[in-house]
Amino acid sequence: STLPDVVIEYRDVRKQYGEFVALAGVNLEVRRGQVVCLIGPSGSGKSTLLRCTNGLETMSSGEVYFDGMPLSKDPRKNRLIRQRMGMVFQNFELFPHKTALGNIMMGPMTVLGLSEEKARTRAEALLAKVGLSEKASNYPANLSGGQQQRVAIARALAMEPEVMLFDEPTSALDPETIGEVLNVMKRLADDGMTMVVVTHEMTFARRVADHVVVFANGQIVEQGRPEQIFDAPQTTRTRDFLSHLG
Ligand code: ADP
Ligand code: MG
Repeated sequence: STLPDVVIEYRDVRKQYGEFVALAGVNLEVRRGQVVCLIGPSGSGKSTLLRCTNGLETMSSGEVYFDGMPLSKDPRKNRLIRQRMGMVFQNFELFPHKTALGNIMMGPMTVLGLSEEKARTRAEALLAKVGLSEKASNYPANLSGGQQQRVAIARALAMEPEVMLFDEPTSALDPETIGEVLNVMKRLADDGMTMVVVTHEMTFARRVADHVVVFANGQIVEQGRPEQIFDAPQTTRTRDFLSHLG
């Protein structure tokens, strides 16, 4: 492949809401095929960084490069870059009036211009991949939270993204459905997908992440291999955060 090894690069990314500093200068690289987990207390800027990544939010200053290309400060100009990043949110946000299959077919048909037949074939394969073939004609209201989130992942994958961004994908789920979503994400990681995952699931981060990034107060306070972060944290802030979880 001629694509660069670094898929996303953040250079001194800052974001302010009025006087409030949500991101205070973030520098980070996400390499192709890596799973990067972002952890840290609520309000530390993790979601803001994800939203700056795909242009849902505009940075106050700094640069984000995607495949070596800088994101524009004008969000409308990032449409093509955004198409290459799949995003999965805490609350699924499926279209309620469309079936599971219909939700997955929509992007390929309306954005990529695939025929209905091609979109259906792609959607069926993805439903199988997330273990929901038998739920193809269910509406979201007739799916569990975990099933809805698996449809949301399939819907993002239907756009054939280069990177998948997850913002607390299991935080809104009943405990018994969390595992099925994490398993789908683990398989995606095993397939080589580049992933940035904001999560409070430390077992997942430990087992699946290649790189763990600890946020506090809009800054990265520590980053490294999961075994380093979890077994030998170097900063008080990381130790404080991890000890308050248990
Ligand atoms: P995290 O995802 O780590 O919990 P966020 O990135 O959502 O944190 O938020 C970081 C900080 O920025 C929080 O204190 C939050 O209240 C603030 N913030 C986020 N979005 C806005 C906004 N649109 N306006 C004002 N403050 C915001
Ligand atoms: Mg958040």
